[in-house]
Amino acid sequence: MKKYCALLLAAVTLILTLMSCSPAGADGGDFNAGYPVSPDELRRYSEELSDGVQTSAQLPAEPPKGKIVYWTASGTVYHLYRDCGHISSAKEVETGTVGMAKNAGIGKFCRTCAKKYAEESSEN
Ligand SMILES: [Zn+2]
Repeated sequence: MKKYCALLLAAVTLILTLMSCSPAGADGGDFNAGYPVSPDELRRYSEELSDGVQTSAQLPAEPPKGKIVYWTASGTVYHLYRDCGHISSAKEVETGTVGMAKNAGIGKFCRTCAKKYAEESSEN
């Protein structure tokens, strides 16, 4: 009986050894095919997408009341951050509350700023 157990143990050890050396480990081991883009790249992609595209339901619809936002006369969205990529290079940027932006015909919250704002508020 004791000998049989030892034999079984040896067999299990052998199987485990064979499994750890299976081709799955050899063919590109660390490459994670499920996530070909890094979070940073994903963020860049989402910034390139035009504002207003429904990329995530998690983003806040608008910043808190009374927050100062930024927009350009030619734009269609207002921004919470002056250094937002969409307006950082703009020379003439309007400043005011969300209500003022809406009065100016800018009714949508920049998705990039919304995302950044959502991240910041989740961190704190
Ligand atoms: Zn923005």
